[in-house]
Amino acid sequence: MRIAVIGAGIGGLVAAAGLQADGHDVAVFEQRREPNPDGAGLTLFGNAFEALDLLGLGDVVRSVSSGAIASMRAGQRHPSGSWLVTVPRRAVASMRSVHRVDLHRALSGQLTAGTLHTGNAALVAADGTPRVTVGDRAEEFDLVVAADGIRSRNRAVLGLDTGLRYAGYTAWRGVTRHPVDLHSEAGETWGRGRLFGIVPLPDDRVYWFATLNAPAGTAFADEREEVRRRFAGWHDSIQECVAATPPEAVLRHDVHDLAKPLASFVRGRTVLLGDAAHAMTPNLGQGAGQGIEDAATLALLLRGARVGDLESALARYSTTRQKRTTRVLQRSRATGRVAQASSPLAVGVRNTALRLLPGAVMGALSARIQKWPKPSG
Ligand SMILES: Cc1cc2nc3c(=O)[nH]c(=O)nc-3n(C[C@H](O)[C@H](O)[C@H](O)COP(=O)(O)OP(=O)(O)OC[C@H]3O[C@@H](n4cnc5c(N)ncnc54)[C@H](O)[C@@H]3O)c2cc1C
Repeated sequence: MRIAVIGAGIGGLVAAAGLQADGHDVAVFEQRREPNPDGAGLTLFGNAFEALDLLGLGDVVRSVSSGAIASMRAGQRHPSGSWLVTVPRRAVASMRSVHRVDLHRALSGQLTAGTLHTGNAALVAADGTPRVTVGDRAEEFDLVVAADGIRSRNRAVLGLDTGLRYAGYTAWRGVTRHPVDLHSEAGETWGRGRLFGIVPLPDDRVYWFATLNAPAGTAFADEREEVRRRFAGWHDSIQECVAATPPEAVLRHDVHDLAKPLASFVRGRTVLLGDAAHAMTPNLGQGAGQGIEDAATLALLLRGARVGDLESALARYSTTRQKRTTRVLQRSRATGRVAQASSPLAVGVRNTALRLLPGAVMGALSARIQKWPKPSG
């Protein structure tokens, strides 16, 4: 089949590479001139690797990522550094971390020459006819995949938009300039209305993220200084990670998710995939993982299908992916509320509950999230 993919983010690239490997004739349209974005790190869990393996991309991603976190102590800590809860090793056994630039480069490298068309925005047809318009040029396909991210214009063109919700907090991300000794401890540290996460990268540099409850659109004069100030007095690894990060390498974005789950991911022969379909808060580290599951689900449903089979295949894609991603989106939002709690009473109750929670329960919750419901037969 001739398939157009709009957007060369993680979701679009995995879909394009997987569909191309299955023998489809794929074209990718990316509005940026330089398709590899800046960005910090990313964690991917077992469900993402199961989906990548089915597309023949698992080893490519393993080659640029690190599984070091699986051999470290991880879970939630108090700002003093004491552990509130440790997740069992098996819950993070297949978790890996990667620098986003390396991931994009590795995935783009899987596409055959001439697949990627950069530098112009592409738009779908409002009625779902599989047509892509770039400037004043329109091109017909058998199927269009719109993977154009959280602020997807194509979701709105298709009449499927439910708007975005500000989660109530902003997020910084950074990567240290040089390796930092984490003493085999990673994971998140939860305070009042703020948290700090630490993730080792393949070259022993550290990817970190930090959140803060704040009104949408809050501006800071010096982002790294703000992180330093807001997390002053927290345990030593946090101080070392911030100090080892050049100021210009600190990024910040307000966190949003979809206001309401979409009624459908499909209109005619055009489908939404990735954040365009189900943008969620980062609290479970599953946003990109869900886009990868979308891509593998779509590819599996299209294996052996002809154009005449598309209607039923796409209906199945929409139903299975809506159900799964709505559950993860809601769980992620709920986790965010607990993690960002700010009143002393709520934080006290949360921390006591975490200290009493058996690690096995945390492991079971994590295993449930990592269970990808593959389409069968
Ligand atoms: C702080 C933070 C931490 C996160 N951490 C994790 C994590 O650890 N693990 C995880 O799995 N997820 C994580 N996520 C979520 C993850 O980053 C996203 O889910 C993922 O990057 C979305 O990929 P995507 O391909 O759907 O969209 P995007 O990455 O947004 O890609 C969309 C692409 O489409 C292009 N585009 C847009 N409009 C058009 C158009 N009209 N025509 C052509 N091109 C267009 C854009 O330029 C872009 O390249 C995190 C998110 C945040 C905010």
